[in-house]
Amino acid sequence: MILSKIGLLLFPKAIFSLPVLGKKMIYLTFDDGPTPEITPWVFEILEKHQIKATFFLLGNEIVKNPEFLPLYNIKGHQIGNHGFEHFDGWRTDKNQYLENILKNKNQIASNLFRPPYGRITPAIYKTIKNQFKIIFWNKMIGDYKPKIISESEINHFLKKLKNGDIIVLHDNKKSFHNLKNILPMIIEYGKKNHFEFGIIEN
Ligand SMILES: [Zn+2]
Repeated sequence: MILSKIGLLLFPKAIFSLPVLGKKMIYLTFDDGPTPEITPWVFEILEKHQIKATFFLLGNEIVKNPEFLPLYNIKGHQIGNHGFEHFDGWRTDKNQYLENILKNKNQIASNLFRPPYGRITPAIYKTIKNQFKIIFWNKMIGDYKPKIISESEINHFLKKLKNGDIIVLHDNKKSFHNLKNILPMIIEYGKKNHFEFGIIEN
């Protein structure tokens, strides 16, 4: 939360949360896919609960798994750009960084961009802010960490959810040991507490 406040000062056009007046809206986002071993599982669980989500796709992974690209649209999910390669915005030249996003834009029709590692420099921000809708997040549980996140830690995370929260998750291989527990719990908690699950508009 504090991070997103600092982020808004540095990057005023970037999005960290999207509250909708009078609603309890939350947004599930999945980074780093498509992953043939994981993404179908995510699709299935979302479909079972009739929930739509936003997927930030890596160009490299689309090239390896092109059959996935049409599926997001068919299933009613939103897609966004996560770069062709997973570049670190603190260690990449701004022109190279922009080229990397544009290279992925050749494959996916979306103006949404999520910076890998959730970080960019002010110089990169200036370079891309008018071409892309930059989507960060304000809720992260760390599904990608090697440590298994316990049920009570997940519950603690869930209790803080509020209208407008953008939750970052990962449909990559290194997160599945946690994602498989976290995603069903978020959905169950959300439904029970009358949250709506939204997609981020392009
Ligand atoms: Zn990523």
